Amino acid sequence: MEVQFLPGVGPKRAELLRKELEVSTVGELLRVFPFRYIDRSSFVRVADARPDMAFVQIRARVMRVVLYGSASSSGQSVAEELWDRTPQGGGAVAQQGPEAGPGAAIHGSQQAAGQGNSGTVKFNAVKRMSVWVADRSGEMEMVFFKGIKWMYEKLRPGTAWVFFGKPQVFNGRINIVHPEVDPLPAGTQNSQQANGPGSQQGGQQSGQQGGTMVGVYPSTEKLKNAGVTGKVMNKIMEAAVNKGLADERETLPEWLMKQYGLVPLQFALRNIHFPRDMQALEKARYRLKFEELFYLQLSLLKQKYVRSRDVHGIQMPKVGEAFNRCYEALPFPLTGAQKRVITEIRNDMKSGQQMNRLLQGDVGSGKTMVAVLTALIAIGNGYQACIMAPTEVLAQQHFKNIQKFLAPTGVKSALLTGSSKASERREVHAGLEDGSIGIIVGTHALIEDNIVFRNLGLAIIDEQHRFGVEQRSKLWRKASCGAPPHVLVMTATPIPRTLAMTLYGDLDVSVIDELPPGRKPVKTMHITEGKRPELYQFMKNEIAKGRQVFVVYPLINETEKLDYQSLEAGAEDIMTKFPFPEYKTAVVHGKQLNDVKKFNMDAFAAGRADILVATSVIEVGVDVPNASVMVIESAERFGLSQLHQLRGRVGRGSEKSYCILMTGHKLSKESKHRIELMCATENGFELAEEDMKMRGPGDLEGTQQSGLPITLNIASLAKDGIILNAARDCADAVLKEDPTLSLLKNAVLRDELKKDKYQIKDYSKIS
Ligand code: ADP
Ligand code: MG
Repeated sequence: MEVQFLPGVGPKRAELLRKELEVSTVGELLRVFPFRYIDRSSFVRVADARPDMAFVQIRARVMRVVLYGSASSSGQSVAEELWDRTPQGGGAVAQQGPEAGPGAAIHGSQQAAGQGNSGTVKFNAVKRMSVWVADRSGEMEMVFFKGIKWMYEKLRPGTAWVFFGKPQVFNGRINIVHPEVDPLPAGTQNSQQANGPGSQQGGQQSGQQGGTMVGVYPSTEKLKNAGVTGKVMNKIMEAAVNKGLADERETLPEWLMKQYGLVPLQFALRNIHFPRDMQALEKARYRLKFEELFYLQLSLLKQKYVRSRDVHGIQMPKVGEAFNRCYEALPFPLTGAQKRVITEIRNDMKSGQQMNRLLQGDVGSGKTMVAVLTALIAIGNGYQACIMAPTEVLAQQHFKNIQKFLAPTGVKSALLTGSSKASERREVHAGLEDGSIGIIVGTHALIEDNIVFRNLGLAIIDEQHRFGVEQRSKLWRKASCGAPPHVLVMTATPIPRTLAMTLYGDLDVSVIDELPPGRKPVKTMHITEGKRPELYQFMKNEIAKGRQVFVVYPLINETEKLDYQSLEAGAEDIMTKFPFPEYKTAVVHGKQLNDVKKFNMDAFAAGRADILVATSVIEVGVDVPNASVMVIESAERFGLSQLHQLRGRVGRGSEKSYCILMTGHKLSKESKHRIELMCATENGFELAEEDMKMRGPGDLEGTQQSGLPITLNIASLAKDGIILNAARDCADAVLKEDPTLSLLKNAVLRDELKKDKYQIKDYSKIS
């Protein structure tokens, strides 16, 4: 059924609902859920309303109505009281009413000739209406800028109403702008005692179905302007439930609902909109969230089950000699976590199925080592491996780092980036094609290029999030030995487990949850601008000890001029306060030519520069163990994950390290929270969880590109981890028994999974 045929909708509103909420059928409308509920049975006394309350509901009597217009003669827009409607013989009001009304602008006022005499009011000249209302505890102003005529007729002095809205402070008093106005609960409307002493008749229902909890629905400016207020939305939803609920066919199999204690769909839909009580609402919510997460997981896992059945992987039965030589020559023992992860990878590679594994590990946890050993397994079995990094600097860094591990193995490696010269390029191409190059390190250029591998057996993708969908499927096409290469995705952005399960639903996940021994915690401090002289002194002390310092500026949007300006101004300030030749400062940012960038970067990495001033995005992905101080400018502009990433650049050496978060004096509540968390913990997973709670998974760093594979309507990855686990286990159990969903008892699942909303964007064939 189309929504326009619901009572109270019609073609115009239907069109609006379609445009604003993407809803055209009643079934779709029923799946627009309230994002919160208001308990309409609880009232607040006027005197108890506070501006920090999200809303209040007040029962109060109208004492005085004042209309304000602009005096047009002078051309100035002077607020002037035009009409003051006070009740006849309003003695009661005089004693309770406002001392002089807002602004005390009584001059020029006219008394309306009596109630309902709105004929004398020139409404088009009226800009604002103040309605002073009172209960026994006090009085409050209700302010209207729109719909004045209608409200003026309705809110006659002496009548009592339920006012509902957000209290705010204006001119030192609390008022509510555009409250919703409802009649008092039935039977009390005209009683003089309606609002009198002791007449607290809470809990009455306003004729709605369900209990006293009223849903608040997502809305837009356009909807509100078209008169689709919260109240109207509730009415429409009531009609939808009445007319449409019966058509809703159950979307989960009977056996599954029983096994997991889920309520039927119709019950859930009714109670999510009009909760009978708290318990019914909880059950409804649980069922709907479970359903959503279950189908998401079912869809993700089904791909995995199908793939492991249809797609064969390259079997790599041995570890090989190169691996062993490298392993024996390691300057340090592997951590327990590194060993465990390598075993997991090794088991994948010898299984005969394609490996699709996500390796998560905090900055500095030793992922490079794991990557090298993994690549050497491929080599040992006669295949080539590629390692891809998101930026040229990181690719170079990787290339340099792995040389020392490869030295004892005799395996030939090469670097290929956008700035490789044509001659180098030709040589590398030839080496890859004839198989003489075993490990190739590079950037996107690796797959953009017209590279042909002799036999690519493994692709390692570092910092996965910078690689888009398309790039990954290009990589897939590089498969040249009949089976797709094994894939190891490495990320240093710790992703909360729930998000990993969804973003990488069909990847196996390994976690390095242990840092190499000997790393000292990084002391993190928050300072504000006034402390800059002390900061510089501190930097000088560290430099005097032979240490190096990072100073990082935010570069939120790479094209943003302001960001570069602040970087340039900052660099200049540093070079003045840290004069050459006593101090050497290198500046690196994305607008420099590659050669310049590399020169400056190398200067810092080699210890020729004491200070590196850089932007955040690209250039800091370096390993400089001698750097002991990380100064983050405008730290409030960074997300938690990014702050954490940056901090990970120090504390790599044996010296005590510091991370200094510089912010302005004024911080939003959220920024303050972020900074405090940074100072409180170094655990990347903890920070990632918090980040997700604060910002929602969509904004989580590293996920913008991949995005969520489907849109979640009611469940939250940040809050519903427990339900997600249950739903995932359930989906796994279903598929284990019936991978193709062809059993009769799973027919509903098969049908449901075909629906559009469960079609996962094909974000890659790989992950
Ligand atoms: P990630 O890539 O995970 O941020 P790296 O692989 O760059 O971390 O390792 C960080 C530092 O720790 C490097 O200098 C590396 O050589 C060193 N390292 C790695 N594994 C170990 C280990 N098991 N014991 C001691 N040091 C290690
Ligand atoms: Mg790394």
